[in-house]
Amino acid sequence: MPELPEVEVIRRELAPLVCGKEFAAPVIHFPGVVHYPALELFRRLLPGRFIGELGRRGKYLLFLLDRGMLLAHLRMTGRLIYRPAGAAGDLPLPPRHLRLELPFADGGALYFYDSRKFGGFWLLEHPGEWEGAGLPSLGPDIWEEVDEASFLALLQARPRARIKPLLLDQGFVAGMGNIYTDESLFRSGIHPCRRVSSLTEEERRRLYRAIREVLAEGIACGGTTTRDYLDARGAAGSFQERLAVYGCKGEPCPCCGRPVERTVTAGRGTYFCPHCQS
Ligand SMILES: [Zn+2]
Repeated sequence: MPELPEVEVIRRELAPLVCGKEFAAPVIHFPGVVHYPALELFRRLLPGRFIGELGRRGKYLLFLLDRGMLLAHLRMTGRLIYRPAGAAGDLPLPPRHLRLELPFADGGALYFYDSRKFGGFWLLEHPGEWEGAGLPSLGPDIWEEVDEASFLALLQARPRARIKPLLLDQGFVAGMGNIYTDESLFRSGIHPCRRVSSLTEEERRRLYRAIREVLAEGIACGGTTTRDYLDARGAAGSFQERLAVYGCKGEPCPCCGRPVERTVTAGRGTYFCPHCQS
């Protein structure tokens, strides 16, 4: 599932390609792809709007329009692919999983493919419509909006929480997912089941720095390609080659050589080294 680094990589690649473009009439291949507003309204409202900037909040991609904003969430298997005007040949991918085409007035288009159909789009007239559109409330973006002092303050407010589920809670901070959370906890030597109240200040600071490091590396590597993730040009990321524990059950821990273990924390598969993380 794309996490913050993957969405950020897509944002950086798409921004120069689509900013300034005007949407034409969307072609909806799967009605469930439009979460808000109603299908007819979406079809009617989008054409004629211009993309000013491409932003990101947590794992949401934000097309900031001259009026309102279009949000996309890729969920498990969503892929957004841009094709410029005049590109010859067939669709970027076979049509089987094509859910939405967003053509531009200049003849180019964005194609949204999604095999599992969990991804989708929301068209908001203004930011205040966020919750009314059925979107979950999000905490500050962990990459853009949280410095070390505010991270410590956020933790301070949640002493009873266990650290891994807390980091995954998008209402606490937005953007962390399973892969980068497990890697951050490993790098900071913190067991995923620890309660916040048991973490020393030094551990909290170490955790913050580890999160910054893994996110920065994830972005620099073009993201992590485990199953379906490919960026907007269809290229794979390479952070999977740097994973120390995630998906590495039974393999030697890069620090101590003992086998990495897998457990389930708050319903999510969790990889850790019981020797290096306490
Ligand atoms: Zn170890």
